[in-house]
Amino acid sequence: MLSFDPDKIDIPEGNFIGGEYLKMKEGSLAVNRPSDGKTYASLSEAGINDVDDAVNIAENARQESGWSACSPRERGAVMRRWADLIEQDSDYLGRLEAAGSTRPVTEVMQHEIPFTAAAIRFYGECADKYSGDLLPTASHSLGMVIPEPYGVVGAITPWNFPLSMASWKCGPALAAGNAVVLKPSELTPFSTARMAELAVRAGLPAGVLNIVQGRGQLTGSALVKHPLVRKVSFTGSTATGAGIMSDAAVHGMKPVTLELGGKSPQLVFDDAGDPQAIALRIFRGFTANGGQACVAGTRLVIQRGIAPAVTEHLIRLCSQVTPGNTWLESSRYSPLIDHRQGEKVAGIVALAREQGAEVLTGGERFAGTGEGWFYRPTLLSGVSRENCAVREEIFGPVLTLQLFDDEEEGLALCRHETYGLCAGVHTSTLAVALRAIKSLDAGTVWVNRYGRSGDFIIPTGGFMGSGIGKDLGKQAFQACQRQKSVLIDF
Ligand code: ADP
Repeated sequence: MLSFDPDKIDIPEGNFIGGEYLKMKEGSLAVNRPSDGKTYASLSEAGINDVDDAVNIAENARQESGWSACSPRERGAVMRRWADLIEQDSDYLGRLEAAGSTRPVTEVMQHEIPFTAAAIRFYGECADKYSGDLLPTASHSLGMVIPEPYGVVGAITPWNFPLSMASWKCGPALAAGNAVVLKPSELTPFSTARMAELAVRAGLPAGVLNIVQGRGQLTGSALVKHPLVRKVSFTGSTATGAGIMSDAAVHGMKPVTLELGGKSPQLVFDDAGDPQAIALRIFRGFTANGGQACVAGTRLVIQRGIAPAVTEHLIRLCSQVTPGNTWLESSRYSPLIDHRQGEKVAGIVALAREQGAEVLTGGERFAGTGEGWFYRPTLLSGVSRENCAVREEIFGPVLTLQLFDDEEEGLALCRHETYGLCAGVHTSTLAVALRAIKSLDAGTVWVNRYGRSGDFIIPTGGFMGSGIGKDLGKQAFQACQRQKSVLIDF
């Protein structure tokens, strides 16, 4: 039985610094549950001085404990033990995640916990697999590139997949020998702190991974600007990412990895296959986590022949969705994170209608869910390229439908002025798929599927306004190392 009572969980309210939970003087913030809007805990917010302490502790810990200097194999062993503990703690960790985030408990247990553990394990395995370069120099000299850790990595994560996001940031940074100070979203702060506690239990030296809590403008900003933070890794909105990149440039010219927003197309050709199966794929692509995923496939660009059948199945799938609190085993559909996000989604849909969109299904909040903001899966047709629902990242379960006749027109409709995160291509013609892969401005292209697999060797990250650099893959590991060039004459 996965259902649980969310009022009966102990919440780790402090900041996790130097291996222990600390309450800060700065102040406390109310933290609400997305499912019912109830305030269930308070957050002890870290101010500038607290962030300074955390970063100094991290820098000392990585040096004094030998974490940066030890053999990568030893780091890998600690990380694999950490992954095991994450799985063993799934009852508690999973409840923390499900009570306080938009992730239904069944999803958390089936996906979130195993994926988080697998990502940490993957980077534990990477630790001793990637080396530097020996370079073809003149025979009286030896040229090398030696990778080394940056020092302290400052990581900032969003609220949509708290545990996974933390694993994507901590995994590569720690495996590469850095210390990490991570600030989770102030909306979903607690599961990340527990995850860090488990790392210490697994043998990570205290202080090598620290969690500071608080708002972005205060705690997050102090972290990015701290002089001992030598690299910044961020996932969140494009606007916030731009500000962080600017802060990182001004305060120490720090390299950044930025995983930002998206407005990803799903390009469906007439020969894609069974319309029912295609509709299910599209449906999952835009409703997973209530549409609150940067990779959500929110623009259906579909060839005229197959469109009526796929649309009919989509409308049916959307109308079958029911809301339910995230702590109930039967719940599958996510609430929006809070009323602010709910009002944003509703506002964009209203404006899209004024601009000519027709609502095929949805277009409103579920009634009778109290303070929880559950928004109906929504299909909007009759939208032009200029329609706000086609242009803006909504971060809610809203799909626009645009029709095309030939391949060129379809590919042109997929282009977006700002974003280039992902794209789905659905066709049974290899040449069509290959041409689309070449043509699309997207950091990830999925063909005849939509969404990541558990193959963490595949990196993820966007082009243009969708970001810089990659999470996951060996690319994320290597991006957590600076490259030192060496030339020795002998
Ligand atoms: P959203 O709230 O839509 O997820 P944000 O991109 O604003 O999107 O937030 C993502 C993360 O970035 C959160 O942890 C947030 O607290 C943090 N954040 C917001 N503003 C800043 C900032 N100026 N500096 C550092 N971190 C920030």
